[in-house]
Amino acid sequence: MIRSVLAPNPAPFTLDGTRSWLVGETLMIDPGPAIDTHVEALLETQPRVATILVTHRHADHAPAAAFVAARSGARILAPEGVLDDAIVAERLTDGATIECEGFVITAVATPGHTAEHFCFLTDGGDLFTGDTILGEGTTAIFPPDGVMADYMASLRKLRALQPRAIYPGHGPVRSDAVAWIDYYIAHREERERQILEELAEGPLGVAELRARIYPELQAGLRSAAEMQLLAHARHLADRGLVVPNGARLSLVR
Ligand SMILES: [Zn+2]
Repeated sequence: MIRSVLAPNPAPFTLDGTRSWLVGETLMIDPGPAIDTHVEALLETQPRVATILVTHRHADHAPAAAFVAARSGARILAPEGVLDDAIVAERLTDGATIECEGFVITAVATPGHTAEHFCFLTDGGDLFTGDTILGEGTTAIFPPDGVMADYMASLRKLRALQPRAIYPGHGPVRSDAVAWIDYYIAHREERERQILEELAEGPLGVAELRARIYPELQAGLRSAAEMQLLAHARHLADRGLVVPNGARLSLVR
């Protein structure tokens, strides 16, 4: 039995809010933001919570873990650097397995959205993806913490696990898990192609690239789009395809 409790924190980057996942009677994934009513809802829905897993440190995923643990006595397992050492029972490592009531769940290191991000896969093929894969749209990769090369490797790593369904930190459940990961990979590859195509006409700054690739974007979303493009540019530069040229980017010919 997998249930979710939606936190009341809707915003452009959280879609309709953070989804905290309750698996069986005792496992909770990403308790979410420190909002009193949300913590109450979590404890009410899963009063026997015994284990809390956290995907990454962001304020819309991790902080409520401390409150749920304090009230329930549940143990917290979190990536290195997430939450206070004093309240974390165990730090996650790639491939670590966690025994729960009636199933086993494996921690999968998936750096990219943030360096410490983990996803979690049950032995039944249910994959909990935090902010690595959302239920709709795409996720934010903001340098320097967000690294596109790592992110692409993490998407391919998740695809190789052949999950049955994806339970994201935001947005709806995806029963088309592998096809959805393929879309995520294709979307990023398409963006790279677009960047290379624009730069083929001559050097461009990131803001100029943004204006060409996202011509309709409203002012409030422009800096986020530029961060994504910068993440792509770094990934292209790592592979020797693009080189910084003053404040602009040039194609390596
Ligand atoms: Zn995040």
